[in-house]
Parts: sequence; C-alpha cells; structure tokens
Amino acid sequence: MFGTSGIRGAVGDEVTAELALSVGRALATEGYERVVVGRDVRESGTVLVDALTAGVRECGGDVVDVGVAPTPTVARGVDWLEADAGVVITASHNPATDNGIKLWSPSGQAFDTERRETIASRVETDRYDLAAWDGLGSRSRDDGLLERHVEAIADRVDDLDGLDVVVDVGNGAGSVTADALLELGASVRTLNAQQDGRFPGRPSEPNEETLGDLQELVGATDADLGVAHDGDGDRMVAVDERGRFVPKDLLLALFAREAVSTGDRVAAPVDTSLAVDDALADVGASVTRTAVGDVYVAERATEPDVVFGGEPSGAWIWPDETLCPDGPLAAAKLAAMAAAEGSLANLVDDLETYPIRRTSIEVDDKERVMETVESTVRERYDEIDALDGVRIDHGDGWTLVRPSGTEPVVRITAEARDDERAEALFEDAREIVLEANEESDVAPAE
Ligand code: MG
Repeated sequence: MFGTSGIRGAVGDEVTAELALSVGRALATEGYERVVVGRDVRESGTVLVDALTAGVRECGGDVVDVGVAPTPTVARGVDWLEADAGVVITASHNPATDNGIKLWSPSGQAFDTERRETIASRVETDRYDLAAWDGLGSRSRDDGLLERHVEAIADRVDDLDGLDVVVDVGNGAGSVTADALLELGASVRTLNAQQDGRFPGRPSEPNEETLGDLQELVGATDADLGVAHDGDGDRMVAVDERGRFVPKDLLLALFAREAVSTGDRVAAPVDTSLAVDDALADVGASVTRTAVGDVYVAERATEPDVVFGGEPSGAWIWPDETLCPDGPLAAAKLAAMAAAEGSLANLVDDLETYPIRRTSIEVDDKERVMETVESTVRERYDEIDALDGVRIDHGDGWTLVRPSGTEPVVRITAEARDDERAEALFEDAREIVLEANEESDVAPAE
C-alpha cells in the first residue's frame, strides 16, 4: 500500500475516502495522539482531509487542520505544533487525476519503512481502537504555519536586496517561496501563482521540458534567476539569468559545496554525477551514496557529519533545518548564492561537467539478470556497491546497472572524466548485461 512516497494513485480507484478514514484510524490507534493535517491544491484533497480527520478523531486523536500548504511547511509544522505526526494529502508532481497520503515524523522525516508498515498492517487487518462517545478527539484549525515557514527561511538566509527573481509556482501550494523572497528584500514576479489543482499552467513536474515559459521569461527580462516547484512545493529547480535550465546534478553540487566544511559528508543517490564529488573534493568533503529516492537521502542525512542531502529529482535537504526536502528554503538559498556571486550562470559554468552515457536494455527476467550481473561484476572488480542496483567505482569514473522499478528493463549509466573512458566503461557494462540476459534465457527458471 505504501511506497517510499507514501500512498499515491488515481482518485476513486486506489485513493478513496475509505482509505483515508482507515489511515486516520490507524494513526490514532497506533498512538499518534495529535496529528497535523495539510493538503496540496487538489480539490479531491478536501474529501480526503475530512475522511482522514474523522478516522483520527474516531479513535481519540486530535487533528490540527492547517489547510493548503507546501509539504515542507506541514512537515516542519509537526514539531512547531508539538504534534506526534503529520499528514499531507498530496500526489506531489503527479497529474490532477491523482492524489495521495504521505506521513511525517516530528523531525520532518517521512515515515520510515517500519512506521509505514505498522500503519499499513493496521489498515490491512482493519482493527482499530474506536473511542467511546465521550472520548472522540478534537479538530482545530491553525492558519499560522505559512507565515512561520517564511520567518524560518528569512532567519536563515542573507538579504536579497536588489535581486530580481521569477517564481513559477505551477499552480501548486508553493506560495511560501514568493513571500520569503519578498521578506528578504528581493523583487519577485510569479508565474502560474493561482492555486488550481487541475494544473492548467503547466504539468506539475518541474523540468526542462515543462518550464518553457519560465526559461523564456527569465531569458527575455533582466531577472537574475527563476525558480520552480512541483505541486506540493518540496521540489525546487532553477533557471539561470540567461534563461537556461540548470542541470539538477549541478544544483546538487552548488548546494553541497555551499553547505560543507572540511571533513563533512553529503548524502546523494548512487546515480549522482562526479561533478558533485569534484566540487566537494576541492574543500575536503565527500559524498556518501544512498539508494535512489529522497526518503533514503533523508535517512542518511540523520547521520552525524552529513550536512546536506540532495536528490537530483529536485529534493534538497538541510538536516539542521528539517529532514523534509524544503523547496522554498532551497529557492531562497540559491537566490542568496546568485546574489553573492552576482550571476547564477557563472556559478554553474564554473563547475566541471563530464560525459555521461545512458541506455535501457529490455530483459526477460530483470531479477535473474541482476543476480548474474552482480556475481560477474564481483569477480572482476573490487569497488562494488550493491545498495541499489550494482555500482562500480573505477576511480576515474563509475558505472551503474539498475533494474527499472516498473518496466522489464535494466538501465545502464556510465560517467568518466573524458569521452573515451566513459564510452569504454559503458560498453563494458552493456556487454555484462547482454551476456547475463542471454544466460537467463538459456537457464531454466528454478
Ligand atoms: Mg513533491
């Protein structure tokens, strides 16, 4: 039921009021007595909030309804409102037809596997501790979280006087960003700022393809940078003053370099570019690699000396602030870096980038293929990481062989400091996968 991103799916199919009611009942039954509930801009969210609230209260828990708010605002609000858990009704960057439920701990961290499984098994067995007539929980309203989030950002980021920023909210819940930038003294123009869960302005996932309007506007005006969010405002990506989309690996490198001192570590997934290692090596810091997914990055960011965590999907985590990816905080921090340098384009262009090769190979049985790939690779190489797929560190480059989560394909990525080496590493990995696929064809299934 719960993936790493919580429950997510089509409204009226996988995601129903009945499910929200059950999750609410499960939370209160499992001892989460005070629960903060917020939602993104999807209209279907009002029904899900009502149902989930009824479930919590029916089992004796109290609900603080914070209305429409970015996911990081609600996640931070769990601690601010002294609650035991937070719930965001959101399908993040998915289309308007979807919705979902994501659960948060007081640290701002999404529920980990163990906590998710406790709630999931409670829902599956359908057993709850319903309260007596005089033991129902309460429902209250708190409208102060957005302002509190703006203040938290303004406290942590230098003034932006004279900076000109365009914010593409994507019709989502990320209004905190424009307010925080204004508070810091920047001039702000907005795109797609009207909240609308049908996402009429652009698809909710912010990337180079969906942000054509932002790139054009920033490039055609004297704006210093553009920033954009997904529907629930946990992700942030950017456009430089020339209107160029900033590759997400390079954003990761910029944030990481700014956060570290000598000896610190940065958490990032196994497919992160060498650009990040090199940006950190300059200052004596290093990357600690995680499985792909912001939940795993956040988990690693709880370790001492990890001062920043980044997922190139656009999720940026500063653990001393919150373990939730905070899109508005990331936007303000990037604006401050652009203001200090005088140009975001210069910051980006100063980073070294390397050739990267990618492909997907269709296979008959991806589990068997991955088993064979792993044993072949272990025979041939020493520096292996099997955390998520198989990653080989070649010293001057790396390859990653990883099964797709949804399709019958295995993906190969290779990166090195020059073209020839990247091509050689890529071809080597491709042959290993092709041979493993042939073998799995011949060998009978056990
Ligand atoms: Mg999101």
